[in-house]
Amino acid sequence: MASINKIGVFTSGGDAPGMNACIRAVVRTGIYLGKQVVGIHQGYQGMIDKKFTDMDARSVRNIIQLGGTVLKTARCVDFRTYEGREKAYQNLVDAGIDALVPIGGDGTFSGAEELSREFNIPVICVPGTIDNDLYGSDFTLGYDTATNTVIEAIDKIRDTAASHDRLFFVEVMGRDSGCIALHAGVAGGAEAILLPEKETAIDDLIHKLEEGALSKKSSCIVIIAEGDKNGGAYNVAKRVKEKFNFYDIKVTILGHLQRGGTPSSFDRVLGSRMGYAAVKSLIAGETRKMVGLRGNEIQLTDLVDAIHNHSFKLEEDLLDMATILAI
Ligand code: ATP
Repeated sequence: MASINKIGVFTSGGDAPGMNACIRAVVRTGIYLGKQVVGIHQGYQGMIDKKFTDMDARSVRNIIQLGGTVLKTARCVDFRTYEGREKAYQNLVDAGIDALVPIGGDGTFSGAEELSREFNIPVICVPGTIDNDLYGSDFTLGYDTATNTVIEAIDKIRDTAASHDRLFFVEVMGRDSGCIALHAGVAGGAEAILLPEKETAIDDLIHKLEEGALSKKSSCIVIIAEGDKNGGAYNVAKRVKEKFNFYDIKVTILGHLQRGGTPSSFDRVLGSRMGYAAVKSLIAGETRKMVGLRGNEIQLTDLVDAIHNHSFKLEEDLLDMATILAI
């Protein structure tokens, strides 16, 4: 493989806290190792529209503590076509960019894998998504911050729930993965947790809530991942209300606030480690891989494996424990 001179870094898909720490690490590691680094704005859309900025060590000052992504992100339909990718590649060639560090989720990885295979440009991807659902990394960038944000919200909801004898249904992000719901549910002391990976019958849920009421619980919180098969928090609340009216029932959808906010120390360290490792791996001649954290070590996983394997396996023991601890 030809030696690398200019590395392009970009964020794509959903934003996640910790992306800025990663951008900073890519820029500074690249420069330290004698490479030029270019920031590509708005992901693949920016690659097609030539939104390139030369970066230096000072251009990433004061960003490690910021949520979101200073390079902005986007979803780009054109990049899904060969013509779109060809145009993007030509723009990279014109700008002298000869290697890429994409930061995003499995969609971003699919695009990077195709571009790299079709045009032979080296890529090392970084898992940046709050869902924590990428194979090859115990944690994805942003998951820790998002879960802490959910817990903070649950704590606040608990105050008002307990003051009014209320039952709250709190919907959290996770279309395909119940990771945020499960962990935030355990940490927030939820009375029940509904996940995409496991169907919960409404009658069973009502039975559990009735037991709570009989044991003099002054409030109940049910966490529902948005991908739960019962159809979301409003639906579940409506169906529960038809048969169970011991508590005043309320619904809170946490929505996009889960994406934002100051990254936790964990996500800042993770973003830094992954960005640093991505650049070092590229320079060492690696390509079409994802950097990931496994057992507190940075390891590489084949991009194709990272794309095709779903990583979050429901921790049944954690769910069982949550049920027992909520009696
Ligand atoms: P998140 O997990 O936060 O949703 P993501 O990276 O999976 O992040 P997507 O919207 O799925 O987000 O993908 C981001 C972008 O990657 C898409 O807008 C598109 O430009 C590109 N992309 C996704 N899938 C493909 C594909 N199969 N081929 C080419 N490009 C793709």
